[in-house]
Amino acid sequence: MSDCIFCKIAAREIPASIVHEDDEVVAFRDVHPEAPVHLLIVPRRHVASLAEAADADGALLGRILLAARDLAVSEGIDASGWRLVTNRGPGAGQTVLHLHFHLLGGRGMTWPPG
Ligand code: AMP
Repeated sequence: MSDCIFCKIAAREIPASIVHEDDEVVAFRDVHPEAPVHLLIVPRRHVASLAEAADADGALLGRILLAARDLAVSEGIDASGWRLVTNRGPGAGQTVLHLHFHLLGGRGMTWPPG
């Protein structure tokens, strides 16, 4: 989508601190980190949120989860623990309408968040 900031990051049209990219998935550092490690993991293809994912997107969603698994190791937070969050809709705090998973770690967390 031409006016989507995460589409532009995935296409390297605007800068971001990209830590992982492959043919389907891109991960970069959140510009306003809420934890010492705060990555955003997104599909290259524009999907507005998890609610708009199709049944046929199962493999793509699996790749995002496996990228989170591997990034937790490479970011050094696997042993201490990490959280993976996706927000759907403004009521849940979604501000960017391109599916993204927040990978958070490096500090203690309570539940529920916020
Ligand atoms: P959400 O509130 O779940 O939609 O999360 C959107 C996240 O995107 C927020 O944590 C923002 O800090 C982050 N964000 C917005 N613009 C950028 C950007 N250009 N580069 C990196 N992170 C961004």
